[in-house]
Amino acid sequence: MTGLRAVHVRAPGKINLTLRAGLPREDGYHPLETVFQAVSLYEDVIARPAEDISAELHGRGADLATGRENLAVRAAELLRETAGEDSGVHLSITKQVPVAGGMAGGSADAAATLIACDQLWGTGLGREELAELAAELGADVPFALTGMSAMGTGRGDLISPVMSRGQYHWVLAIQDEGLSTPEVFAEFDALTGDGPGADDEDDARHGGEVVSALLSADPLVLARTLHNDLEQAAVSLRPGLADVLAAADRAGALAAVVSGSGPTVAALALDAPHASSVADVLRGAEVADEIQVATGPVPGARVIEHVGRG
Ligand code: ATP
Repeated sequence: MTGLRAVHVRAPGKINLTLRAGLPREDGYHPLETVFQAVSLYEDVIARPAEDISAELHGRGADLATGRENLAVRAAELLRETAGEDSGVHLSITKQVPVAGGMAGGSADAAATLIACDQLWGTGLGREELAELAAELGADVPFALTGMSAMGTGRGDLISPVMSRGQYHWVLAIQDEGLSTPEVFAEFDALTGDGPGADDEDDARHGGEVVSALLSADPLVLARTLHNDLEQAAVSLRPGLADVLAAADRAGALAAVVSGSGPTVAALALDAPHASSVADVLRGAEVADEIQVATGPVPGARVIEHVGRG
């Protein structure tokens, strides 16, 4: 224990700029090649010393489970076990990232919790060990630690940072009702059959294209590279997403793509004023429950405040 009274950590949600999925491996996982960008919708976790591990949720997550089903609680438990710590923590989590929205909000909560508890307990584990725990918790948790822009391979959990120039402006079309990631992959399998998964050479080409687009700092160049292999499956399960994509196009977005397993649609704009006008048109089109603007890339989980010993 460090004697700290509270630690406040913030972690971002993500958009998948490109996502290529191969046929499922023997362990059931689909090999992925994805380029993530962390965006300015945040999860705020405040960790305070307590006897046991518990959580309360505010904002979007108010009706989510706060027991072991919650990925943040699991993150605190895993860290406590690994570090041989015997104190507990109370987590107060305020969610901006849509739940089951394809933007990895639960993973951001887990990443923020790892950092907050590590600071509160003074575990002495290094960033690399925390990254290993992150990968154990879920495929998207390592990226929530890293943030910015990165390539994810394996299950999306093997992260290599990608250089990016400039700020990109996004309009996010958010739905109240999420999509289940396993159901979207099952639909992807049903639609793909035994046919070819992502072609390796094709993957390399697309991965390379988006990496050089991010160096250009030009949203028009990035717009041409946005792609998601899961989009068809998400649209098949939620046909209304086709209307969101079409409305984004009509609203003048440079391009729009379903993020991860959906249902959030990310529409790319030229700059901040353009994002705000695309957002207004999309609100008027009434194709989503909520429209938000966000920028990226932004950093991964980081400490906002330590509340000192008292
Ligand atoms: P995934 O990371 O599985 O692709 P996602 O990004 O679409 O999911 P999340 O909000 O991260 O969406 O989580 C999906 C599911 O995980 C939720 O429906 C919920 O049942 C469960 N879950 C567990 N802990 C959390 C949490 N702290 N916040 C959100 N969801 C959580």
